[in-house]
Amino acid sequence: MNPSAWTNADLHCHSCVSDGTLEPEALAERAKANGVELWALTDHDEIGGQHRARQAAQAIGLPYLTGAEISVTFAGVTVHIVGLGIDPDHPALVQGLAATRDGRILRAQEMSAGLAQVGIPDAFEGALNYAGNPELISRTHFARYLVETGYCASTHEVFRKYLVEGKPGFIEHRWAKLGDAVNWITQAGGIAVIAHPGRYKFTVNEEFALFTEFKAHGGLGVEVVTGSHTSADFAKYADMAIELDLLASRGSDFHSPEESRTDLGTLPALPARLTPVWEALMDRVQPAGQH
Ligand code: AMP
Ligand code: MN
Ligand code: MN
Ligand code: MN
Repeated sequence: MNPSAWTNADLHCHSCVSDGTLEPEALAERAKANGVELWALTDHDEIGGQHRARQAAQAIGLPYLTGAEISVTFAGVTVHIVGLGIDPDHPALVQGLAATRDGRILRAQEMSAGLAQVGIPDAFEGALNYAGNPELISRTHFARYLVETGYCASTHEVFRKYLVEGKPGFIEHRWAKLGDAVNWITQAGGIAVIAHPGRYKFTVNEEFALFTEFKAHGGLGVEVVTGSHTSADFAKYADMAIELDLLASRGSDFHSPEESRTDLGTLPALPARLTPVWEALMDRVQPAGQH
């Protein structure tokens, strides 16, 4: 199909190289089966799955954009910045992500100590067993372990009871700086996108500061239609994209068939008045030339 007619782009999801449960190849197949026309794998703080994802997509004729979702700390809050169309081998990006992953092990050990104090022993070892990539141990792996061992009925319940601010397994963490993450993405030839802005608990002023600082650092896009947004969020961030002249992105944030409410390729289309971020990334889509 002519890329200018693409509507079903899914530019946000996770494999077992971060905190998803499927291999990159299985995600490519699932995206294709669900009618996705342009796909990106965006593992947290990690590009280790990019070559596999691109190859798998190429093998089944699924147009692909490289991606990553970078954890940053802004105004004391964790914010996620998605990079699309990046060169996954660019040294600044590779080093920046390695530094961002650093500290996850230590944080996990501290989380485990917090959980031990409320009678949940050995959670570090338990969570590590679920991590497909030991450098990328995340709260999600703790959540899976606590469900498996019967402490909670769902990963959402684990987060609510144990893993969010004020709960025993929560450890304050300092991630990358907003400007650094945007620069790594831009230097690697990609476009930086604010992930699921509707999820952050910012005041109106803090949110405005996030968007203006992001733009000042060279950020160009915002996720409007994502699995983390309500339909009210779709409308709100569509308006923000127009007002602030940002490109719009769309992605399920799919992690797992068992856990994710939104499957790959199943969200509504972007509102027609927005400019899709992929229009600015056509020269980076693989397989190039099959348009
Ligand atoms: P981390 O990067 O280790 O802090 O883990 C963040 C990840 O936890 C997110 O990317 C989500 O996949 C997952 N997560 C965050 N909040 C929740 C929640 N309330 N329920 C389920 N998963 C969540
Ligand atoms: Mn995640
Ligand atoms: Mn995220
Ligand atoms: Mn995500």
